[in-house]
Amino acid sequence: MNNLIARAKELLENKIVQVIVGYEAGPTGVARPAFITNPAKADLLIYDERCVQNLAVYLTKPEVRNLGKMAIVATLPVMRSIMMLISEQQIFADNIIVLGVSSDGSLLDIADIKVMQAYIEKSDLGNPVKDRALLVELNKLSKEERFAYWQKELSKCIKCYACRQACPLCYCTRCTVEVNQPQWIPVQSNTHGNMEWHILRAMHLAGRCISCGECGRACPVGIPCHLLTMQLADEVHNYFKVYAGTSEKMSSVLSTFEPNDKESFII
Ligand code: SF4
Ligand code: SF4
Ligand code: SF4
Repeated sequence: MNNLIARAKELLENKIVQVIVGYEAGPTGVARPAFITNPAKADLLIYDERCVQNLAVYLTKPEVRNLGKMAIVATLPVMRSIMMLISEQQIFADNIIVLGVSSDGSLLDIADIKVMQAYIEKSDLGNPVKDRALLVELNKLSKEERFAYWQKELSKCIKCYACRQACPLCYCTRCTVEVNQPQWIPVQSNTHGNMEWHILRAMHLAGRCISCGECGRACPVGIPCHLLTMQLADEVHNYFKVYAGTSEKMSSVLSTFEPNDKESFII
């Protein structure tokens, strides 16, 4: 932790970056994102078990980009998000410094993108353990039972789009749900339209979701929508043997074609 603060200070003092994106304690003690531009305020940075938000979502926000070159406190999901954003040409590796942190808060030596790639490759890239267990339970249900489960869950959706806003890979300047000519997804909340919205989003994240769980954490009504995209992350791995966010040159599996691709999913 001390190493993280010292490094953040050094980067700001030497004007190598203009902003550090990290975590600080909010007034109630809950960890919240911090955007530190003054080296004297680097001491505000924290890193502990409260720091779960995927900060990579800020890398594409104009308000943060306008602050200048940034360094970002990066857990494994943040690093994988960065890889995805580079591969999708939303950010450039040269414009960002990665302050990698291990689960105990020690600063990792991520000197460049190759080192970050090596770190990602030797990590466990499957879904988080607690979500794996939930997916196993869901997959024990029949198709009809699973459909009924999701119908019930998604009928609670109030279409606030917090799940989308929290996701680092949902960076579109105009999301499909905001297109109204034609109106693909109904504005109002109803079970049928809610399911359309979630199926659409899950398909847009297929092969891109890095299993951070942020969308589910952001949902104000407790819908575990992250399980939809995590299920697809599993399917993509089963079919194509790839995990998202492992290479800066990765192409999304659903936007590429190989003659040898399995076609067993086409029914
Ligand atoms: S878990 Fe949710 S927030 Fe995280 S990358 Fe996947 S879809 Fe986005
Ligand atoms: S749901 Fe699809 S269209 Fe909307 S922001 Fe996410 S990826 Fe873009
Ligand atoms: S955050 Fe929850 S309520 Fe809001 S759109 Fe997403 S699933 Fe629906």
